Amino acid sequence: MQEKQNLLSTLPSVDEILKSNQGIEWLNTYPRRFVLQGIREAIDRRRKGIIEGTVSDISDEVTFADIENIIKRLAAYSLKPLINATGVVIHTNLGRSVLSEKSLRNILQVSGSYSNLEYDIEEGKRGKRYTHVKRILKEVTGAEDALVVNNNAAAVLLCLNSISKGKEVIVSRGELVEIGGSFRMPDVMASSGAILREVGTTNKTHIFDYENAINENTSLILKIHKSNFRIIGFTDEVSIEELVNLGKKYKTPVMFDLGSGCLLDLRAFGIYTEPAVREVVEAGVDITTFSGDKMLGGPQGGVIVGKKDYIEKIQKNPMTRAVRIDKLTLAGFEATLMEYVDEENAIENVPTLKMLLQKPETLKERAKRIAKRLKKEIKDVHIHVMPDSSRAGGGALPEVDLSTYVVSIKSGGISVNKFEERLRKGNPPIISRIKEESLIIDVRTVRDKDIDGLVTGIKAALS
Ligand SMILES: *Cc1c(COP(=O)(O)O)cnc(C)c1O
Repeated sequence: MQEKQNLLSTLPSVDEILKSNQGIEWLNTYPRRFVLQGIREAIDRRRKGIIEGTVSDISDEVTFADIENIIKRLAAYSLKPLINATGVVIHTNLGRSVLSEKSLRNILQVSGSYSNLEYDIEEGKRGKRYTHVKRILKEVTGAEDALVVNNNAAAVLLCLNSISKGKEVIVSRGELVEIGGSFRMPDVMASSGAILREVGTTNKTHIFDYENAINENTSLILKIHKSNFRIIGFTDEVSIEELVNLGKKYKTPVMFDLGSGCLLDLRAFGIYTEPAVREVVEAGVDITTFSGDKMLGGPQGGVIVGKKDYIEKIQKNPMTRAVRIDKLTLAGFEATLMEYVDEENAIENVPTLKMLLQKPETLKERAKRIAKRLKKEIKDVHIHVMPDSSRAGGGALPEVDLSTYVVSIKSGGISVNKFEERLRKGNPPIISRIKEESLIIDVRTVRDKDIDGLVTGIKAALS
């Protein structure tokens, strides 16, 4: 009892700590509120520990380390960078696309200054924010007109609300997808005020299904990309060309929600089996929508390209204001799109494309390099490089396995689940995969600048 009393009486006061050199340094670095909270929490913990008999060491060193940990936790940002070792390039939970250098630089420049966001410099009067990416989008898609909004979900909602409010929209039953979260096509349709007219069956929809459904209240024929699933076996869907012809015959616009939307023809690389946006536009589709941060590799955004009459009508919808794009995004978008003017630039400079198109030899070399460093720094663990496959993610190429190389790590010391958890909770966090009792680092999404952090993180997790 006496001993506890003695210990309690030696606990420093909040004021003493604040006035110490360390306290002054904290106050210079962190918000005062967090410093106070850290000191109080640490002292409280100590007091409780002493009373309960679980704490006997109350040296300043330990107390100060404790305080610093609390302050750092309070002052840390919630949204932070991490290392994606899953190999999934367009990982929806991990921020989808990593932006290009030019895109980042432009965001920094434009948002760190005043800009002509809504100002026409030539005329010296008010301008429109949408004009900034119109020209370049027309250039890289071949469309008559273009508009960018907050994301593709907003783009779809906005198009439907502008063109089809109170009117019927024909959609195949094989394409009534749920993209994730609460984005389900029938629900989006309902929120937009459009009336869903389902045609065909789950596995087969024919051109006559569409044609039979057309009536005086039809406003739109909508095709939706089956982003995250495939129907295989006895199946049939109507081609874009057939839908465009049908639309012409009945003077009904055709819209295609491409979802991911790739600006390059990547079929030559053997991985992308979908038509490029340009092809869809050239086929005569009136309105095409796609994401900015999936295959395109830019910031979050929803692109609408198509015939001028429709784009103008959509732009005039008051709802456009509610889903408008901000200046940071616009700056990132314009710089990303500019890369696409020259196909080779896009492949080299847009990280999403680059990571997707990496050659197996490149991946193997990187995996070997990482494994070598790990072996040098960590003893008594099994580390080896092996071939595996990764996914594109982002609903981009659901059925495509991309050949990759991984570093497989097996430790006798801790369970693979514990290992994965420690990596995940590390600084920076490392998100990995588990396969048959081994921890898997898929190097497709590990950039050269991540390697130091990766090696340090793995070493820390295993010690
Ligand atoms: C991803 C996707 C969307 C939603 O796009 P966001 O940019 O995430 O809002 C809509 N439709 C399809 C077909 C998609 O694949």
